Amino acid sequence: MADTKPILAGGRLTIDLGRLAANWSALARSAPGAETAAVIKADAYGIGIGPAARALAAAGCRTFFVALPEEGIRARVAAPNAVIYVLDGLIEGSSRTLADANLRPVLGSWAEIEEWAAFKETGAQTGCAIHVDTGMNRLGLSLHEALELAQRPDLLRRISPDLLMSHLVASEEKTNPVNLRQLALFNEIRANFPNVPGSLANSAGIMRGPEYHFDLVRPGIALYGAAPGPDSFGPTQPVVTAEARVLLVREADEGETVGYGGAHRLIRSSRVAILGAGYADGYHRRSNAGAPHAGAHVLIRGKPAPLLGRVSMDLIAVDVTDIRAASRGDWAELFGRHLPVDQVAAFAGTVGYELLTGLGRRYERTYVGGDATT
Ligand SMILES: *Cc1c(COP(=O)(O)O)cnc(C)c1O
Repeated sequence: MADTKPILAGGRLTIDLGRLAANWSALARSAPGAETAAVIKADAYGIGIGPAARALAAAGCRTFFVALPEEGIRARVAAPNAVIYVLDGLIEGSSRTLADANLRPVLGSWAEIEEWAAFKETGAQTGCAIHVDTGMNRLGLSLHEALELAQRPDLLRRISPDLLMSHLVASEEKTNPVNLRQLALFNEIRANFPNVPGSLANSAGIMRGPEYHFDLVRPGIALYGAAPGPDSFGPTQPVVTAEARVLLVREADEGETVGYGGAHRLIRSSRVAILGAGYADGYHRRSNAGAPHAGAHVLIRGKPAPLLGRVSMDLIAVDVTDIRAASRGDWAELFGRHLPVDQVAAFAGTVGYELLTGLGRRYERTYVGGDATT
């Protein structure tokens, strides 16, 4: 009531750029022989590409990866002196646009190689990377095409690649034999491009050991403090805390139902807190699709409050019968410092990557712990 400047959003994000920088430094320490780049695609995994690039550049990061040219253009404003690679490669007809923003395409097909080589004939100085597929079957030259390119000094001279990279299929699975197969294949391909620096490891790839590090490592998810997989917790801390406002607390009797479809029937007289965020804010509707009390919960005043019934577009109902102090105006932690994003993603059968990149536009965002000007 005394608050003269209320937060008008139903949810708020606190994004700790100091932790982001500390995470980057921790990853750099675990790959001491390599340069540590940063993957900031998808709006820096939802946290904001401008603030993220600025904080990481200030921490010493010199090389960034984005997925799309549009992301590269925004990153360029934030990190004027950095090297920026565009992972999705060369969109047809976009060479001039990339060169004007000094963005380097990651060339992933023969058509892209030829188009970029023709463009370089015009005298452009922009760098590039070559992506070779070693098992993902997504982007990247086939082994056959890579060997063909190695035999074409004319083409190679024109594109003069700054980086040779490939991408791991299952790096988060420690014992998956595909890791060693890709490693061997990448070493074989590299032998054909003797003077080009190499890069293979994403976040979990860094954790697979120094033989995966090569000249440059490309962490994404670990920078943001989430785990790439269940047996791949990195040396990093959560960066984002997402909270939703308690709009009201109501009493409901045993036998009544809560929310759409009457999907949850109360087994006792309960106090129900209604939170001002929902699936439109990236909190998955599937989080509570299973049996009641299957584990999905938020934290209110540090205590777990189980979800009740279906997640709505703008609202989530939770049980605060056992959290007596819970009241209107409290903030419930959806995930973050005390409730790991990976655990909350698991409620919905998904991964932290999807939760972070799907946060939505409605949150009030506060950046702390770094240079947060946008
Ligand atoms: C997204 C991406 C990364 C980063 O992966 P994380 O698992 O988030 O560390 C690295 N390399 C490529 C090619 C990518 O597409």
